[in-house]
Amino acid sequence: MSDAAQPTDEHVPTDDDFEPIEVFPESTEMDLRPGADNCYKCSTCDTNCPVAEVDDEFPGPKFQGPEQWRLKRQDDHDIDDSVMKCSNCMRCDHACPSEVPLSQMHNTARGEYVEKQMSKRSLEYWRNRLLSNYRTMAHLGSKVPRLTNFMMGLGVTRVFNEKVLKITSEREFPAFATETFREWWDARGGYATSRERARAAREARGEKTTAETDKRIAYFHGCYSNYNTPEVGKALVRVYEHFGYEVMVPDQRCSGTPMYANGMLGDAERAAKTNVPELAAAIEEGADVIASCTSCSMSLRQEYPELFDIDGVHEVSNNTWEGLEYLRVHEDLKGELEGTTTDLPNLAYHAPCHARNQGLDGQAIEVLSAIDGVEAHDVGDSCSGISGTYGWKAENYDTSMKIGEEMFEHMEAADATHGLTECPTCSMQMEHGTGYDILHPLEILADALLDGGETQSSSGTGPA
Ligand code: SF4
Ligand code: SF4
Repeated sequence: MSDAAQPTDEHVPTDDDFEPIEVFPESTEMDLRPGADNCYKCSTCDTNCPVAEVDDEFPGPKFQGPEQWRLKRQDDHDIDDSVMKCSNCMRCDHACPSEVPLSQMHNTARGEYVEKQMSKRSLEYWRNRLLSNYRTMAHLGSKVPRLTNFMMGLGVTRVFNEKVLKITSEREFPAFATETFREWWDARGGYATSRERARAAREARGEKTTAETDKRIAYFHGCYSNYNTPEVGKALVRVYEHFGYEVMVPDQRCSGTPMYANGMLGDAERAAKTNVPELAAAIEEGADVIASCTSCSMSLRQEYPELFDIDGVHEVSNNTWEGLEYLRVHEDLKGELEGTTTDLPNLAYHAPCHARNQGLDGQAIEVLSAIDGVEAHDVGDSCSGISGTYGWKAENYDTSMKIGEEMFEHMEAADATHGLTECPTCSMQMEHGTGYDILHPLEILADALLDGGETQSSSGTGPA
């Protein structure tokens, strides 16, 4: 890719011209009724559902998935509105021993419910639409970040959000960075600078330095690393360049995760129609796709091919990795970390549900423990409870905090200085429930490999 072709936000389509898509067209491609036959009613999914555990009225994943699709086989049965109470944590998917496509069933059922049964004039619809299109809000808010942060922090704004929009006033709105990741990237010189730095690093490592290198990645930063925690994106770029990788940053929109959770499949498909061709083009140029958020990598890997028929969707799915996972597989990460130190050695780690689904739950502790003096405590396998937009809805706030209780208790017992996780919304819940500053594993990696212990936390408050 030429330097001139390096993307910026300017070329990304806006969300102004919404065109609803037909989620359930006449074709039977999205018909999951046959998948319901794989369910043998063991109820393992129900016992692993964090919402069902604390909310007696939620019928659980078995009902939302196979039972509902069986009913639809008999007649054109309405979707039960309880599907909107599923937090989309996807733990049921992981738990099912019979490979029933539970989350795909839930996502399509939610899509059908919103499309056919939810009033487009209802407050709930517009609140959910607003929450699931966070990127649009963030794009506007980050134009004047200090003013937006001030306005969003006002008591009157929080009361308005709670009373009118039914967005909980209990949580603090995440602050926008004064410089987005993409602004930093462009000012730094984009791909041209990254290519030069990576070549110099390869030379220093005694590796191939020509343009023919296979050490090239396309970074999918998602919304939160771009607008709220650019430190995470910067850490990823610097760490990958240290290992000799040239970093490309393709044009991109939201990965779609909050949209699936709210049944906004039309919005998710429109975003995917930007993301898939951009990422597929980078793959054509020899890059692998790397995400720093485990929900983004989950979406590109699993939900895209499950939900969308877009050219290149399988190439993107098959070539997407999470940031730490890729380095574990392709580099001697532990060897490289031997003898390094960090000023942030005492960490309480929470594995996001979407990291578990990708088999990534143990890796952060395993890798970071190779740094001298690091004590990384696993705070257990419970769900954090926030699940993206779920815990921001006023009606779900108490349930969200009940689900999170076990994690809060374990974090407090860990007696660490910082929390650690790969998921931005788990990070919000961890900070909200315990007061810890939260870091991303890539920030610790950058600190140990490159900074010798000078990391500042993503929340901007620095080490506690
Ligand atoms: S875990 Fe799988 S097989 Fe068991 S009840 Fe749930 S969907 Fe059916
Ligand atoms: S996705 Fe999570 S909340 Fe939804 S049914 Fe499955 S386990 Fe329960």
